[in-house]
Amino acid sequence: MRLLVVEDERRLASALQKGLRAEGFDVDVALDGTLGLNLATEHAYDLIVLDIMLPGLNGLDVCRRIRAQAVDTPILMLTARENTLDRVAGLDSGADDYLTKPFAFDELLARMRAIVRRGRTRQLSAILEYGPVQLDPRDHTVRVAGARLDLTATEYRVLEQLMMHPETVVSREQLADRVWGGDLDPGSNVIEVYIGYLRRKLGDGDGDGGPIETVRNVGYRLRGPRA
Ligand code: CA
Repeated sequence: MRLLVVEDERRLASALQKGLRAEGFDVDVALDGTLGLNLATEHAYDLIVLDIMLPGLNGLDVCRRIRAQAVDTPILMLTARENTLDRVAGLDSGADDYLTKPFAFDELLARMRAIVRRGRTRQLSAILEYGPVQLDPRDHTVRVAGARLDLTATEYRVLEQLMMHPETVVSREQLADRVWGGDLDPGSNVIEVYIGYLRRKLGDGDGDGGPIETVRNVGYRLRGPRA
């Protein structure tokens, strides 16, 4: 799991990073809201831990802007005290849950697990849509402009990863991890092969190569409609 921690208190940020890495998570840290927002919208995180009290762009603004860009990564807000107003505002701004400082590290872990579990169920039951492409996790069907596509199970899982994080780069490592369970030889071109199958099945749009964009040396993303 890849996490983003947005927290301006350096000591707390580095303690969280250390503790979460020790639990086996990949952790990026942003010490201010602007960097946090940029990272959150450019990378596919599994969870964001977001402090409300940040200099400049505060946590509520960051959360609203993340949601405004249709990024539905689960967000756990950190509030400075037992402040009802902050908690309500946090949930209103699109956060999934909140935790009051100071907190025990184990409590943070428990909340994170609960949010990710809930997020999975939510994602599993919601139809994902991107442009004309519709993916229904309930029966694993994919339609383009209403016409059903015939995808293999692996093609489906690759497309699902891209559609869960539209307009965000999904790295080769993330695909290897989430689709193949980390079971790929690093030199293998299996991911390219499957992306190729998907591109053929999705069609190439208006001749511009279709919705799956290659981000060199990193991975792939579903790109936004061309202006
Ligand atoms: Ca703070």
